[in-house]
Amino acid sequence: MVEKIFDNPKIYRVLVPLPENPLRSLNSYVIMTEKRNLVIDTGFNREECYGALTEGLDELGIDIEDTDFFITHFHGDHCGTVGRIAGERSRIFMSEKDYSYLVGDFEDATWEDIESVYVEEGFPTDIVCRLKSSNQAKKYRPDRLFKAVTLQDRDVIRLGDAELVCMLTPGHTPGHMCLYLPEKKILFSGDHVLFDITPNITSWMGIADSLGDYMQSLEMIKDLDVEITLAAHRDSRGNLRERADEILEHHRIRLHDTAEVLRESERPLNAYEIAQMMKWNLRGRSWDSFPDNQKWFAMGETISHIDYLVKRDFILKQIDTESGIYVYSLK
Ligand SMILES: [Zn+2]
Repeated sequence: MVEKIFDNPKIYRVLVPLPENPLRSLNSYVIMTEKRNLVIDTGFNREECYGALTEGLDELGIDIEDTDFFITHFHGDHCGTVGRIAGERSRIFMSEKDYSYLVGDFEDATWEDIESVYVEEGFPTDIVCRLKSSNQAKKYRPDRLFKAVTLQDRDVIRLGDAELVCMLTPGHTPGHMCLYLPEKKILFSGDHVLFDITPNITSWMGIADSLGDYMQSLEMIKDLDVEITLAAHRDSRGNLRERADEILEHHRIRLHDTAEVLRESERPLNAYEIAQMMKWNLRGRSWDSFPDNQKWFAMGETISHIDYLVKRDFILKQIDTESGIYVYSLK
């Protein structure tokens, strides 16, 4: 399905389905100019995504050899199918930081490192084992590494007369990038700002405080002069500044709730115990009947909130010498 979003430059949205995924679909944006085209994000490496995107590009009459790609971040639902769809002369743009994580992913380093971090934080090993085969992000990632033109913060991509500024917005991933068209006040926000769901924030290897980074990136982005925000999932229209403030408030409440769980506990707790005591949208289900992948996401969110509070000296991190698992208490 192709929808026209803007006239000059021509911007279209191709809806790419994400089957069996709570995100439902990806908004792949296409900017068309007389010289070259740019496709922003592409979908998982699975037939349904590849089919929908190629169909959309055909409908727009696009020659793939005149088309480049911009990947907002290294999650599989954004970069999974780009290597297959890009032409020989296509360039694939991506932040240097996220590209390095993608390279690590191919050596299986990224996943195994994260799994061992979760286990050290009390996450059950049997769930880790079950998730090894069912994790969509892993299953539908690119099947081979594509070459990328790597980007730094504020690099400019020229497309016909349009100048697009690459805005580094670490948080959702360590090297997430938004794409800003200042002349038209348009922001392609990737997963940095979504409107009817809250972007997932998790902990990353080598990143001490991903939630702190994310909140700082929200403060930065809300000061941009933006009239149209084009997000990567779901309904993409809304006021950027208001939405950034709502997400910031959401995390402040979650930080407060994390500290409250520790205040009410008589003993130090590990991150998995804290996650179970937090409020989640479980749709009436108990934590135990919560699907494995939702437990995984909840765990990541919880760790990122704990990291934030540890870094700012609100809570104390210690190791339980018997189990080798980290435990936390209020300072
Ligand atoms: Zn993402």
